[in-house]
Amino acid sequence: MKLFDHIKAYFLNIYEAVATISMGMWITFKTAFFERKVTLQYPSHDIIEGKPKDASITTQGNLNPPFEALLGASQQNYKGPLNTQLPERYRGLLGYDEPSCISCLLCALNCPIDVIRVKGVKIEGRKGKAPTTFRIDYSKCMFCGLCVEVCPTDAVFFTRQFEGATFDYRTLIREFISPELSLERMQLAEEAKKHAEKEKKKREDKETPEVGD
Ligand code: SF4
Ligand code: SF4
Repeated sequence: MKLFDHIKAYFLNIYEAVATISMGMWITFKTAFFERKVTLQYPSHDIIEGKPKDASITTQGNLNPPFEALLGASQQNYKGPLNTQLPERYRGLLGYDEPSCISCLLCALNCPIDVIRVKGVKIEGRKGKAPTTFRIDYSKCMFCGLCVEVCPTDAVFFTRQFEGATFDYRTLIREFISPELSLERMQLAEEAKKHAEKEKKKREDKETPEVGD
């Protein structure tokens, strides 16, 4: 009986070894011949969209979104882009809502490492000042949240976008106001200033008594 147990265990071991090796080889075979292979050119490509970040880089092959599904997650388990699965309070890259901004400079003044640069001008029809420059240097930001806390209009806020890797750090400096819009606002402000000066001069002239009166 003891001898039979030994023989049984011997053949069971052989069976288990063959079964586990076959399973491993089947996975290798399946992956090599039947699964789609995706080369992710990171960080040249956006991992969420699968699109090249730089217009000069072309996407090779047919990388249809959802890109992450192609990276390994099966279609059934795919829950949407990674950034949408992050908690609401996640501190990702800073976002900016230009129409809400009043150019009060509080965010820039409270940032401990000069990440934000803001300039603004007073123009008609706009509450506070209209921004002519709003720049964020993402390469310096430490996500402390001071700017978000002090902003009175929630114009600056945390997004859930975490993907900012790049080969060129200069691309991490983002200008939110286009040069054209900035110029247009500065011209409007200049015209408004000249108009106000003229009006002031007119008023002063009226108030100044004529010589001999
Ligand atoms: S999160 Fe902190 S470091 Fe980043 S811009 Fe705001 S205040 Fe500056
Ligand atoms: S604190 Fe808010 S409203 Fe003020 S300049 Fe910054 S983003 Fe604009």
